[in-house]
Amino acid sequence: MNVPESSQRAAILLVGQATEGLERELRSRYTLVALPPDPGPQAQVLAREGASIEIAVVTQQRPFEVEWFLSLPALRLIANLGVGHDNIPSREAHERGVAVSNTPGVLDDAVAELAVALVLSTLRRLPGADRFVRDGRWPAEGAYPLTTQLKGRTVGILGLGRIGRAVADRLAPFKCHMAYHSRSRVAGVNIEYADSPRSLAAMSDVLVVAAPASPGAAPLVDRVVLTALGPRGVLVNIARGSVVDQQQMVDMLISGDLGAAGLDVYNDEPYVPRALLGLDNVVLLPHVGSATTETRQAMAQLLLANVAAAVDGRALLTPVLPS
Ligand code: NAP
Repeated sequence: MNVPESSQRAAILLVGQATEGLERELRSRYTLVALPPDPGPQAQVLAREGASIEIAVVTQQRPFEVEWFLSLPALRLIANLGVGHDNIPSREAHERGVAVSNTPGVLDDAVAELAVALVLSTLRRLPGADRFVRDGRWPAEGAYPLTTQLKGRTVGILGLGRIGRAVADRLAPFKCHMAYHSRSRVAGVNIEYADSPRSLAAMSDVLVVAAPASPGAAPLVDRVVLTALGPRGVLVNIARGSVVDQQQMVDMLISGDLGAAGLDVYNDEPYVPRALLGLDNVVLLPHVGSATTETRQAMAQLLLANVAAAVDGRALLTPVLPS
């Protein structure tokens, strides 16, 4: 019997924006339903299409809302385009028998490159130096203020996982000292272990945050950790905004109790605290850690492989396991 193609194709809900290539691939293989951003049209789409949806593809710009589960009774997989999955209610998904997948590993190089770029940009005040030239201040004011070199500094890595280790590999040739803190010690690395975020910050000139967000938990980098980092300390966050107490960080950057910060991530993206915009001691990036063409393609391929595995009833390649 010839089954019409449309009835063989799994229905996929696209939450957020996909790259053109990923959207094209999804459309060519599946029936794609895009979830509108506004609540009214969103509710209409969920009411009309929700019963048929088997898989939700979520990009990092949008969280997956818990109440959507009620409109998605056939949902089997939430496939997240990213390694960090704090935008997905994984516990509720697993309780309902819905699997979750992410894209670990394929983005380590891009994020680690960006972390090193942020460390150097923040220490050497590169965006400020660039503005100094563009604004025509060089002839009038003379030499740009002196900055700090990386060689000889101690860099603490908070979270020595896939990305943290890739950062450490890339920092080694800069001849800096390194230390790390994770809840468990990592075997086979020649990097000093600190037994808490505070003790890591206390021994660090630069603290690179590479630990995952833990929704609902207090920020790992709180006032105590920021105080230990101190007025000469540099905070670099390429993990998630919520891992750092953002208000405390802003207050301490303004007061001088924290030296400088290089940030790729914020609490309420795409919104950045206004107070940061006028500060010279910060470098601000718009969450671009994995945003290279090569890496986004690799992430899309891994996501598509997870979706195909779920559709075919095979084991997921990179499942997020119940915690
Ligand atoms: P990973 O391999 O799971 O590594 C996470 C590390 O953090 C592990 O070493 C883990 O060790 C440690 N950790 C977890 N909870 C901790 C806690 N409470 N205190 C101290 N250490 C803790 O993850 P990954 O692939 O490296 O990714 C790390 C994070 O980077 C992601 O979760 C994501 O939020 C972020 N990220 C950002 C971008 C960007 O564009 N800026 C891109 C990709 C990823 P223990 O379990 O032993 O503690």
